[in-house]
Amino acid sequence: MKSTSNIAKIFLLQEDREKSFKHWPYKDDKKCSIRKMAEAGFYWHGTEQEIDIAACFVCGKELDGWEESDDPWTEHQKHAPQCAFVKYGRPESDLTCEEFGHLMMATMKMRLQNQYTQMKTNAKMFTEKKRKEMEKLLRTQ
Ligand SMILES: [Zn+2]
Repeated sequence: MKSTSNIAKIFLLQEDREKSFKHWPYKDDKKCSIRKMAEAGFYWHGTEQEIDIAACFVCGKELDGWEESDDPWTEHQKHAPQCAFVKYGRPESDLTCEEFGHLMMATMKMRLQNQYTQMKTNAKMFTEKKRKEMEKLLRTQ
């Protein structure tokens, strides 16, 4: 289904976050198992070379260097206390529909802000490139 795959891309559901972990150094019995990472809002953001990188689907905070005794909720709270998901501090299954809707909005807002920042950076780089080209042209005349 198309709508489901679009939702999967933003890792809104714990199930999709769990599935995102292609590699992960810790087994199911550890504090930062894949299930517990996903429950605390993290999806896999690693690479073949660096497998222990995860990011939050709401605030976008990326964390690496996980240790087996790390608690995903504690780490999330420590590094992103402003995160809406951290503020609820409960897994998806314990959220009300209203809270879940609020998280969805926060997620979309974060993604739009990131896209806006990226576009602004691209526009700045483009302007700077053109300014340099014009200066070069003026100097050669
Ligand atoms: Zn977060």
